[in-house]
Amino acid sequence: MLSPSLEDYLEEIYRFSLHNDVVRVSDIASCLDVTMPSVNNAIRKLSEKDYLIYKKYRELVLTEKGRRVGKFLVERNGILQNFLKAINSQCDVKAEAEAMEHYLSLPTIRAIESLLDFLENNKECRKKFLEHCRYRKEKGLGLINGYAGK
Ligand code: MN
Repeated sequence: MLSPSLEDYLEEIYRFSLHNDVVRVSDIASCLDVTMPSVNNAIRKLSEKDYLIYKKYRELVLTEKGRRVGKFLVERNGILQNFLKAINSQCDVKAEAEAMEHYLSLPTIRAIESLLDFLENNKECRKKFLEHCRYRKEKGLGLINGYAGK
């Protein structure tokens, strides 16, 4: 298992590799908005763990293991983004999925996947749910933020 930070690097390298023939260290630095020293450090760790090969001209090539895990990470992130959209959360979907992905277990993510599949195949349930959300909003129902009081 990789640390959350290394998972994010590998996820981004794999995502970038889907749309680009060549992946360079500088591409990943700009995608993740991090400094070059931290990217270099992460790349070195990923190459030591056999997820990628560091070639000349700062080019990165994922190994079979790197591609397999990278694909998993990108898919896992997509499921969680879809989940946040499905439950109609008013959060920053990208940022929240990025955080959740590292802390939920695989059984939970698979359960979420089943729920998404169910909602996709039962559109009337999703519609009823959204009506219910509107009703609750109108009534002012929901968790009261204790931190927001004066
Ligand atoms: Mn993340």
